[in-house]
Amino acid sequence: MSQGFVSFVEVKQAVTMEAVLTRYGFFENLSRKGKNLAGLCPFCKGRSVRQFQVNPVKNAWYCFGCKAGGNILDFVAKHEGVSVRTAALKLNSWFELGLAEEAERPSAPSAPAETPKVAEEPPLATEETLPAENPPLTFTLKTLDPNHAELAALGIGTETIERFGAGYCAKGLMKGRLAIPIHSSRGELLAYAGLAVGEGETPRYLFPPKFHPALEVFNLHRLMEVPEETGPLHLAPEIEGVLRLAEEGVASALGLFDGSLSPKQEEALVGALSLYEGFLLVGEEFHDRTVARLARYATVRWVSDLSPQPATGISA
Ligand SMILES: [Zn+2]
Repeated sequence: MSQGFVSFVEVKQAVTMEAVLTRYGFFENLSRKGKNLAGLCPFCKGRSVRQFQVNPVKNAWYCFGCKAGGNILDFVAKHEGVSVRTAALKLNSWFELGLAEEAERPSAPSAPAETPKVAEEPPLATEETLPAENPPLTFTLKTLDPNHAELAALGIGTETIERFGAGYCAKGLMKGRLAIPIHSSRGELLAYAGLAVGEGETPRYLFPPKFHPALEVFNLHRLMEVPEETGPLHLAPEIEGVLRLAEEGVASALGLFDGSLSPKQEEALVGALSLYEGFLLVGEEFHDRTVARLARYATVRWVSDLSPQPATGISA
């Protein structure tokens, strides 16, 4: 068996996602969704026909269920269970690209491939103790009031509050707060966040004791319902920012929980990014480390709000 290399860049330029999906017999099962194509995921076998999406312009794919995504090489590597290098060789052969195999990568200044080399940082101690995922919630809060007078202090419209399934909670752990449902990327209800309503009330957010925000990205499951994706992926530092972006008409916004970014959140965001053109961070509460980590993958623009103003430009 050949142990050579072919140029990843040339393979990606020569083969489309459509061609790869057609070869596997998946393409005919996809349907158009805005500028993307959507269908069942060939990997996680989820049930949503919007879960797996392909952006033909970027020649990229992403699954909201398994939170995996990337280019044609990543797809073939995942499907075949091989390395990206072997995937490139397979594509070269399947599509008769005739790309010359190199016996060895030129050992000259080790030019890393196009995937950005990520400096490994030791995980934070708390992350090691996290479970693999948050279990689905076994109940729903049925008496949330999206119209409650106390909510006026937040300045978020009733329509937006309703759209997120949120409402004023009159009893229990979230009493006196805006309870906002949090879902997994597959759309399962996991928890309610309790957002303080009054000015200066602390803590700003309450989460159930066994829920781990670091395992989730807020609003990720709605991204697959957005009719059309164009431009950057909007990201807010916490949940409230996502509701405020929805008020501004940005449906495809995602949210972190306290401005920080866990490895799991990073993975989910970078996967979803394959459908978008860079990140637009909206809000001031992002940790510097969050911005720096995201900037390794794509262009990051950071603004304090969406009103016209000079952006704090940061790019990869
Ligand atoms: Zn999947």
